[in-house]
Amino acid sequence: MLTQSLCARWQVAGPTEAGSRELAALADAHGTPLFVLRGAMLDERMAQLRAVLPAGMRVLYSVKANAQPEVLARLGPQVDGFDVASAAELALARAAAVPGSVLGMTGPGKRDEDLAVALAADAVVVLESLDEGARLARAAGGRRPRVMLRINPPFELAAESRMGGGPRKFGVDSEQAAAALAGIGALPLDFVGLHIYAGSNCLDAQSIANAMHATSSLAAELAAVAPGPVRVLNLGGGFGIPCLPGEGPLALDRLGESLGRLANEAGRRLPEATLCVELGRFVVGEAGVYLSRVVERKVSRGRVYLILDGGLNHHWHATGALEGRRHLHYPIWVVGAAGRPMESVTVCGPLCAPHDTWAEHLNLPRAEPGDLVAVFQSGAYTTAISPGDFMLRPAPARLLV
Ligand SMILES: *Cc1c(COP(=O)(O)O)cnc(C)c1O
Repeated sequence: MLTQSLCARWQVAGPTEAGSRELAALADAHGTPLFVLRGAMLDERMAQLRAVLPAGMRVLYSVKANAQPEVLARLGPQVDGFDVASAAELALARAAAVPGSVLGMTGPGKRDEDLAVALAADAVVVLESLDEGARLARAAGGRRPRVMLRINPPFELAAESRMGGGPRKFGVDSEQAAAALAGIGALPLDFVGLHIYAGSNCLDAQSIANAMHATSSLAAELAAVAPGPVRVLNLGGGFGIPCLPGEGPLALDRLGESLGRLANEAGRRLPEATLCVELGRFVVGEAGVYLSRVVERKVSRGRVYLILDGGLNHHWHATGALEGRRHLHYPIWVVGAAGRPMESVTVCGPLCAPHDTWAEHLNLPRAEPGDLVAVFQSGAYTTAISPGDFMLRPAPARLLV
């Protein structure tokens, strides 16, 4: 089901075959493996978000999801700011003509070099600890840089990647937040607000809404002990995309309605606060496809293996090796093969590691060497989180079309 609908969006298996021809032509022109991202789908996704989120809620893009320069340039005019995690990500955002003043630098373990670059760009620094605030103040030499404080909330977002609740390296524990806020007040820093990020990649609108309502309440309590008004409240994000069999899309309309209620309530309790969400995969993930060619089709003891020219060295997350979900797989299709007889195959990458496997027992149209295999939902967290040096195979090209 999922595979079919995604293929239809790219028209790979659609009646016109136009999408298949387009992808095949791109692979011929640029070689494989290849990432292709459709710019129009980024625009469409931003328009969807704007249509459902409450007026005035800012949307920040998390650069780490996809830092391709063309992507940053395309998203720059459409979002309200970028969330960067390092000096190098900040430089990419600046190179894409994003003003430093709408950048926020978040992430544990910022080096002095990262803080210096944030200062020079006039970016907001989202402090992960009071010590970081002291280092920033020293580096600022009397200028009062804008800072937010990241809080490790007492709750978490039930999702693939949990970043709140319990002991964490992220932020300041909520029970220590009052002391940290007082500490910030004693430093030459311009406190602008709070940042609370409870988790990532959640497909349940209700869970996200619950986490954000809890976030807003926590922020309203902390505002009473903050060194200044909360002018910005970053509610986090965690909007997921369906990648695995059985997963369905996030009910964005329902989430939007709930966030509308949240915005009304926050307007009363935190009247000076601008609300933000920060999103990565939800913005770029569905717009991308990974294209790889079948190098070999081999049969081993009755099982058919398709060995592709790319694997977890480019797209670790999709192969499932990262979380040990070998039997689950991203939507995969053989480009231009609609109508061929189906067969059950194991789709592998070329690496000398058994976990370099895209999918097992997957029904696909019969593929031969030279056929192009598309892995959908591949716009976010691809090469950046993959062990690309493993076996030193060539890096994939990346296109925005
Ligand atoms: C990674 C990250 C994001 C983006 O997460 P997605 O799942 O890609 O939306 C947002 N905020 C923070 C603080 C992050 O670490």
